[in-house]
Amino acid sequence: MRVKMILPALTEATSPYFRPIKYSLFPPLGLATLAGYLNPDDSIEIQDEHIENLDLTDTPDLVVIEAYITSAKRAYQLGDHYRSRGAHVCIGGVHPSSQPDEAAKHADTVFAGPGEDTWPRFLHDFARGMPAPFYQSTIRSLVDTPPLRRDLLKRNRYLVPNSLVVSRGCPHRCDFCYKEPFFKGGRSFYTQKVDDALAQIEALPGRHLFFLDDNLFANPRFAAALFEGMRGMGRLWQAAGTVQAALDTSLLDQAVACGLRSLFVGFESLSEASLREQHKNHNHFQQYRQAIANLQERRVMINASFVFGMDHDDQSVFDHTVDWAIDHGLETATFHILTPYPGTRLYSRLQKQGRILTDDWNLYDTRHSVFQPAHMSVGQLEQGYWRSYRRFYRWSSILKAASQKPNRLAQLRHLAYSAGWKKFEFLWNPIVKIGMVAHMRPLLEKILAATKGQASKSLTPQREQSINDRKLIGIKNRKAA
Ligand code: SF4
Repeated sequence: MRVKMILPALTEATSPYFRPIKYSLFPPLGLATLAGYLNPDDSIEIQDEHIENLDLTDTPDLVVIEAYITSAKRAYQLGDHYRSRGAHVCIGGVHPSSQPDEAAKHADTVFAGPGEDTWPRFLHDFARGMPAPFYQSTIRSLVDTPPLRRDLLKRNRYLVPNSLVVSRGCPHRCDFCYKEPFFKGGRSFYTQKVDDALAQIEALPGRHLFFLDDNLFANPRFAAALFEGMRGMGRLWQAAGTVQAALDTSLLDQAVACGLRSLFVGFESLSEASLREQHKNHNHFQQYRQAIANLQERRVMINASFVFGMDHDDQSVFDHTVDWAIDHGLETATFHILTPYPGTRLYSRLQKQGRILTDDWNLYDTRHSVFQPAHMSVGQLEQGYWRSYRRFYRWSSILKAASQKPNRLAQLRHLAYSAGWKKFEFLWNPIVKIGMVAHMRPLLEKILAATKGQASKSLTPQREQSINDRKLIGIKNRKAA
């Protein structure tokens, strides 16, 4: 059987804001996972439209397309194209899971939810010539799943080919999270067996790893056993976690001992009222300072995530958040406009209130306001979002945030990581274009590894007080002016 698996380009990839490096980070692991279930003698090709032009002249028997919300339109075009060429087209992923009827217009089979139970069932049905039009995942387990077909990924076209997932989902239920509709109908959090996860890690060449799990620390027992098993492997790794993860110092110590060097943390908002509004019940603003201090004391760089446009946000939210992030010495920040993905509680709430402004999924990219904000206009929300990026990543802000670090090495590391990510696009673009991105991996490893001799001066209560004092003086001066 000839099988073609496609990750269509997100809309952003065709916009003027496209940053080639951002889409050359991780290979399409989901498709490689599904490929693991196919027969060894099947002819399989995986194409990722973010890093290559698709060959649309072929005639596969089976086409598998993974769609996110802002790639849905492109996914449907590709589905239509391959159906017209006689292929059986399957579509799955986050967006088809919440909009199966829409996806069904462009595919022969639609998958809702993760594919561990439905994909093998489909393959069995397809082999008998009786594939169903719709498969809803209900049984969720990563036990005894076949290994990913990493051999099908174009490893050298990505900066971080050693990305991996050892769990699925997250036990929390934030109103805006994509995971609600995707995991509907079954468990929304489960892990691999620790031994399987360790075997997966051991099989990866090189030193650097990037865990793409939504929340690697969500099951502390699993995480502790995983980190214990990784001790001595000499890895350097990055991952995502919650503020809670950064508060559990014994688990954090284990993570750092086996190579954790940077963590994506979902702070989302500095307002308690906004956090409660979104049912982000595990986040408490008064614990943020401690969480940051715990990470910085252990030389773990922080990529902070913030969401703008919640109902308690007014126009002051942008500068307030950016100033706070700089004052706390955060290396990188990812800002989002609150986006009500269809199928989430947030979407239902805003729809009931008549505040959803469009169902053009291409605009659901967290850069556009697709709903009417409560205390500002759509234009103010979008302008504030862009201004936040400009303010956080201007040189003076990067230098100020880096200066919060306790010594020259730590400051240089901050500078290299932060500026390297956002200030050298003119270098990244040609590097990606000529297919040399893999050559930048050793540099990334060097920056992550550069922690020797770095001690903490970060965010002691005295320092926090001094930040607050400086702010008060600033406010008084502004008022006086
Ligand atoms: S903690 Fe993160 S991954 Fe988990 S539900 Fe909330 S937003 Fe989603």
